[in-house]
Amino acid sequence: MLHINELSLNIPETTKPRVVIIGGGFGGVNLVKKLPGKEFQVVMFDRQNYHGFWPLLYQVATAGLEPDAIAEPLRKMFDEDYEDFHFRQVKVTGVNPAAKTVTTLVGELRYDYLVIATGTKSNYFGNEQIKRYSFPLKQIPDALNLRSQMLQAFEQANMIKDPDVRQSLLNFVIVGGGPTGVELAGALAEMRKYILPGDYPGLDFSQMNIILVEGLDRVLPPMSPKSSQTTKEYLESAGVVVKLNTLVESYDGELVTFKGGETIRTQTLIWAAGVSGAQIAGLPPEASERGRYLVNTFNQVIGFPDIFAIGDVAAMKTEKWPRGHPGVAQPAIQQGQHLAKNLQRLIRNEPLQPFEYFDKGSLAIIGRNRAVADLPKDLHLKGFIAWAAWLFVHIYYLIGFRNKLVVLANWIYKFFTRENGNRLIIRPFLRKDDVAGQEFVRRQADLD
Ligand SMILES: Cc1cc2nc3c(=O)[nH]c(=O)nc-3n(C[C@H](O)[C@H](O)[C@H](O)COP(=O)(O)OP(=O)(O)OC[C@H]3O[C@@H](n4cnc5c(N)ncnc54)[C@H](O)[C@@H]3O)c2cc1C
Repeated sequence: MLHINELSLNIPETTKPRVVIIGGGFGGVNLVKKLPGKEFQVVMFDRQNYHGFWPLLYQVATAGLEPDAIAEPLRKMFDEDYEDFHFRQVKVTGVNPAAKTVTTLVGELRYDYLVIATGTKSNYFGNEQIKRYSFPLKQIPDALNLRSQMLQAFEQANMIKDPDVRQSLLNFVIVGGGPTGVELAGALAEMRKYILPGDYPGLDFSQMNIILVEGLDRVLPPMSPKSSQTTKEYLESAGVVVKLNTLVESYDGELVTFKGGETIRTQTLIWAAGVSGAQIAGLPPEASERGRYLVNTFNQVIGFPDIFAIGDVAAMKTEKWPRGHPGVAQPAIQQGQHLAKNLQRLIRNEPLQPFEYFDKGSLAIIGRNRAVADLPKDLHLKGFIAWAAWLFVHIYYLIGFRNKLVVLANWIYKFFTRENGNRLIIRPFLRKDDVAGQEFVRRQADLD
């Protein structure tokens, strides 16, 4: 086993301006694609070695897709054709703007220009108990944990004697009625209808409850009220219980308590209720607002002309977007592409151009032939057309020809068979604490 002191970042010295990018998400990769290696040395750090396509993460959680279909290795994306590009899989822990260095788990590196493109992390609003027991859905390991947990819950429900524990295994509470919560609830409802009764003939799936909880007065709050209403109708007709104006107070791994006192017994509480910027230590508090870096229209962090933030971690407040752009892929993609041009202007001493967001609209899918779309010019689509648009847009933006092919093949297969991939529990999910029913899994996992 190597000790961390034996590692070094191993980045060659350069006379060109060095751009250090933290994060290979939508913002980071679109920046690199447009940044010429002839003019810059480009260094990218990411704690994982792949770019993840998060809009399809819920399909990994529900066993519709395997993880490698929604991820692309960063080294494959930026191979030897990218001149003077250097990727290192390492977590960045700090920035020192005075010394112009970033600190990683492996060492420090000097930058000329730093781009923070670290996206977001789950926000539990300070509730440590919810953080400990709930299931987030932000990264591929989260989706695999959730998938295992759900499949294990069905296996146990099929054998458990106590009807109350069985019910708690069959109650799935999803907190957060944004796109992640809605799409997950829709996918689970389809599994309950078409797939699970075949897998578990001994279980009564009329007892399986999917409860979607939202603190505001409508689901999909970032979309139009019209799309929110259609989505609620779609979900309810699929048998999802939608609880609006409802806030979670606590969850101890078995019992969720809502503000107002109502409780539900559940072994699976999925937390899709909030995110905050994945910030890097080292910049003063006044450079941030609500967990995002405050940037000007050139994506420069306020007070730091050499440090840029793009995508979800940046808040560019404008007249049209007084709270910053929405935390979706398009602002990150467009800001990455725009910043590449501005960095070239900067080294040529040309004036920087302000970023303007082109809102292409938003989409959400609830199930087969059921989706909603808000398009520019106040155009709203629903039903089959929105569903077809959703499929097309996701295949189009998915990175990697192989991924496009694999996802398309999976969807075609699913369309004709209603089958939902392989529901294998390869990596059992084990909670740190024992809760009812989990003892069984632990013992099973110990059988070697
Ligand atoms: C489950 C889910 C579903 C979504 N669905 C949609 C959707 O349907 N449509 C849509 O438009 N948007 C959707 N989004 C939002 C969209 O994915 C984000 O807006 C987009 O990814 C933002 O891009 P980004 O580059 O800012 O961050 P990201 O794409 O999140 O990339 C951040 C990168 O930074 C890396 N990183 C973070 N911290 C560090 C560190 N300290 N050191 C090293 N590396 C670090 C991460 O590993 C990651 O690779 C969804 C997000 C999630 C989680």
